[in-house]
Formats: sequence, C-alpha cells, structure tokens
Amino acid sequence: MKHLFFDLDRTLWDFERNSENALKILFHDLGLDKQLRSFQGFHETYKDINAKLWFDYGRGKITKDVLRVKRFQDTLSTYKIDSPSLAKCLGDGYVEISPYQTRLFPNTKEVLTELQKEYELHIITNGFKEVQFIKLENSGIRNFFNVVICSEDIGKNKPAPDIFQYALSEARANSNESIMIGDDYQVDIIGAEGAGIKGVLFDPNEKYDEGTHEFQISDLIEMHDILPWMNKE
Ligand SMILES: [Mg+2]
Repeated sequence: MKHLFFDLDRTLWDFERNSENALKILFHDLGLDKQLRSFQGFHETYKDINAKLWFDYGRGKITKDVLRVKRFQDTLSTYKIDSPSLAKCLGDGYVEISPYQTRLFPNTKEVLTELQKEYELHIITNGFKEVQFIKLENSGIRNFFNVVICSEDIGKNKPAPDIFQYALSEARANSNESIMIGDDYQVDIIGAEGAGIKGVLFDPNEKYDEGTHEFQISDLIEMHDILPWMNKE
C-alpha cells in the first residue's frame, strides 16, 4: 500500500462535537440562555428536528436553504418562540461558525504524523471546497495531505465511483495500492470498493455491528495494527 485516502467529517473532524460547540456559542451570543432553561434541552430538540428535515431534504422535499433556517424555526417554536429573524440568525450563524470549530477525533494528529512517514495521505470528502478547507486549516491538519478532493470539484458525491477514480488519478495512485478510511459504510466503504479500493470502516460510536466490514476500527490508533495485516493480503 502506498496511498491512504481519508474521509473528513466524522472520520478525522469530529462533526457532532463541533456542531454542538457552534450551537452553544450561538445560544449564548444570541441571548437564548436568558430565555430558555438549558442548552442541553435545546440541543436535543434541535437534533431530532434536524434529523427529520435532513430526511425530507434527502428525498427532495425541501431545499438546502429551507433546511438551514427551518430546523431552527421549528426548534424555537417548540419553545413557543415565533421569530423568523432569530431563526435566520441561528441558521446563518451556524453555517458560518461551525467550520471554524477544531475538535478532531482522539489520536488524529499523532496517527497522521506516523502514517505520513510511510504513505501518501489524501482526503476525499463530500462537501463544499470553501467549507472543507476552513476545517482542515483551522484544525491544523491541512499539511498532512497531498491531494484534497471535495465532491464539489467534480459534481459527484461519494459513493459514486467517479469521485474515487478522480481522486486516484489526481494522486497518481493505483486502486490496488490504495486504502479508503471512512465512517459511512455505504458512502465510503462500498463506494471505494466500487472503484477497486479497499476500505477501513471507522466506527467510534459503534453504530455498526461488529463484523459489518472485514476491516473495522473504533480508534484511529488501530490503523497501526490493521495496515501491516492489509499489506500482507
Ligand atoms: Mg464522514
């Protein structure tokens, strides 16, 4: 193996914790802490509503712009707050500040530092270039990666094989000397396999059953154990 391709959100960059932190900042900055009792309750309500609206978005029922504001509008209305302007401030503020949050999964920098001595490291991420680069730069991991491919670059999201093939050619890599590490079994692992790349499923919260995939880890540090094994195959 020569090339390791990493997913970014929920694999290196801790999306859930960073999102929570961004909301906490807005909750205080916009004075919601004075109107509502706890951030925890607000956050739980938001997460439920956000998940339902993402489902609608995935089925083409609502647009991204609607999703961004409505998730806050609906959350506020459970507290009987009817304020379109506050919902818009939350919606805009969230999109603006969340990429600047910097929490990574445990051992991310240590593992990348070791791996870059033996492998070329790259990123394949679904998302907008501007946003994903802010995350990479601010969390201090941009320099580990040679090639950074965002789905916006080619207009195709993982699991489409096109994005993996494009990444291989940009990295001048062969599929049989490459590995993809990601947290989403369908998107990252099945997607990579469609382009002939072996996958490592990163599952820190045990979302998947044990044995879902041949190569499965719950902490990035396990890459050191799994790679020699994969190299032998
Ligand atoms: Mg991910």
